[in-house]
Amino acid sequence: MSDVQEFSFQAEIKQLLHILSHSLYQNREIALRELISNASDALNKLRHIQLSDDQYRDDQPLEISLEPNKEAKLLVVRDNGIGMTHDELVENLGTIAHSGSKEFFRGLAAAQTTPGGQPDLSLIGQFGVGFYAAFMLAEKVEVVTRSYREQSGWRWESDGSGRFSVSAVAGDVPRGAQIRLHLKEDMAEFLDPAHLKQVVRRYSTFVPHPIRLEGETINEQKPIWVEPKGQVTEQQHAAFYQWLTHHSEEQPLWNLHLSSDSPIQFHAILYCPPTNVELMGFGRVERGLNLCAKRVLVEDDCHDLLPEYLRFLRGVVDSADLPLNVSRETLQDNKLLPKLRRVLTKKVLDHLASLADEQPETFKTFYEQFGGIVRTGLGQDFENGERIARLMRFHSTQEEFDPHQPAAPTVSLDEYVRRAVEDQTQIYYLGGPHLKTLVQHPHLDAFRKRKLEVLFLADPIDEFALTQLGRFADKELISIDSEEVKFPKSSTPADEPAATPAPPHFTRVVELFRGALAAKIADVRESSRLTGGVCCLVNPQGKMSNQLQKVLSLSVPDYELPKRILEINPRTALMQRLCELSVNPDNDEFIRDCGRQLYANALMTDGVAPDIEDATSRTLRFMEELARSRSAIIV
Ligand code: ADP
Ligand code: MG
Repeated sequence: MSDVQEFSFQAEIKQLLHILSHSLYQNREIALRELISNASDALNKLRHIQLSDDQYRDDQPLEISLEPNKEAKLLVVRDNGIGMTHDELVENLGTIAHSGSKEFFRGLAAAQTTPGGQPDLSLIGQFGVGFYAAFMLAEKVEVVTRSYREQSGWRWESDGSGRFSVSAVAGDVPRGAQIRLHLKEDMAEFLDPAHLKQVVRRYSTFVPHPIRLEGETINEQKPIWVEPKGQVTEQQHAAFYQWLTHHSEEQPLWNLHLSSDSPIQFHAILYCPPTNVELMGFGRVERGLNLCAKRVLVEDDCHDLLPEYLRFLRGVVDSADLPLNVSRETLQDNKLLPKLRRVLTKKVLDHLASLADEQPETFKTFYEQFGGIVRTGLGQDFENGERIARLMRFHSTQEEFDPHQPAAPTVSLDEYVRRAVEDQTQIYYLGGPHLKTLVQHPHLDAFRKRKLEVLFLADPIDEFALTQLGRFADKELISIDSEEVKFPKSSTPADEPAATPAPPHFTRVVELFRGALAAKIADVRESSRLTGGVCCLVNPQGKMSNQLQKVLSLSVPDYELPKRILEINPRTALMQRLCELSVNPDNDEFIRDCGRQLYANALMTDGVAPDIEDATSRTLRFMEELARSRSAIIV
């Protein structure tokens, strides 16, 4: 075996390197940020090992140093962290298994291409590029490293074309890693200490280890989350957010700074990004919060501190109640985490509720971006159901809007309840795929006449969510196509004739209808909701609404639609005449046919196709009969 081993980069890395080293991408400073963040990770890992295993302890202070060398056009980023073994070098710096570059690739896949056919890198610059960003600055990169577990070191080397080499280093190599950047021609500024200082202050000031340059510590490392809430400025928040997220320009939409002493001691700062990258096609956000114990990072991207429906938040949680030497594995069983999660979840939801009151514009942006994710919490987090429901916004009959071009929905459940009449015990809603058709739905007549507000749920997720919730502020949430709808007495329209009894023989007609439709429906009965129309279909108690039935029938094979109830309005001309005709048994079959056709009509009103052959042949017969009874003689 020769002393120098040659390796080929994985194909994706070649592609990445090509983009990075040839891009005109302005923001080259981020390369330094990536290298410093790797050094910091390596120090965190070592500190953790030292805390759990005595044999690796020593009195070297853990630190990062920047060593510019003008003559050699060389910039070294050095740390005394865990370092890498031969195999780790090959694995970590030759494949794309790592979060930094993986994220970049997802970004690349989703990014728009510029007119020149290049991916739009300004967008991608928001994502961690990882180690390979070194090739934005350097024509050759060397990594000289010694793992904390080994006595001798290794050199990794590449010029960023397709290959890299690894060789053993003779002589002493200090523990940790030196990333040796042989800078490109036009990168001289990275040899200027003043410029390096500025870049570190801008992107890396919150790195929790000293960053040394010419004998001086140049970062602040101030953990702003332990500061009193009022003393952290907006600029500090922005800088901390940018450090956490690796975003260089973005400002958080809002921040939530929390401190508590009991029952659990913790400090936390949570940030909401201004945009939801999941909506832009970047896939699911896999990031989490940074968890610290007494300011020392225990786990970055910890997913156990917030429920999934708040997964877009970033930030840090620091608790003195957490043992310093806790590991990812033992963290799983730690009793503190579920407690922290409960407190944080409540605080975030309460914060959002007050945001809606105090900063409606910010809340509106938040809801447009993240409303879709937060709403999914209703089906998952029963403890906070009402808190989540409070954040939802709907269109409603009370609102003036153009159903062809609706703006964002604005009606909250609280607002609905405030407007409801005193004896109203239910919150009415109607679900369906298009707002355009929803606003014209025949079921709404009864509610409009009584001036009762109905919420529109154009997204089936909302309806599933409300079904899960069941009640809000002591009122039952109910789909208006349910037979369980109850109208408040006080809402009876003034022009409604005082409950006139149904015409004589109405029960006979109902019986004939029942007989004709027995196989298809659950029942036929008199309606208390219809004022103008002859009939409608409602869902029996406990059955799902039409919208949910439709969704299920599309996704569940062999899903059987539940039988519905045909409600009839006896105070209509047609029904009155049928009642009169029903005394003569000769009319039975005609009345049955009318029942069948009314059912077909009701189905069509709900957007469901009846038995077409049956319905068309019957209407044809009706027309023939009518045509026969008309006269051709002009009088
Ligand atoms: P990420 O940091 O997201 O894992 P990177 O591309 O930045 O991805 O780094 C790849 C891997 O290389 C790291 O996960 C780490 O294992 C290793 N690595 C990079 N820099 C260092 C370093 N200074 N010391 C030890 N290991 C390092
Ligand atoms: Mg990294």
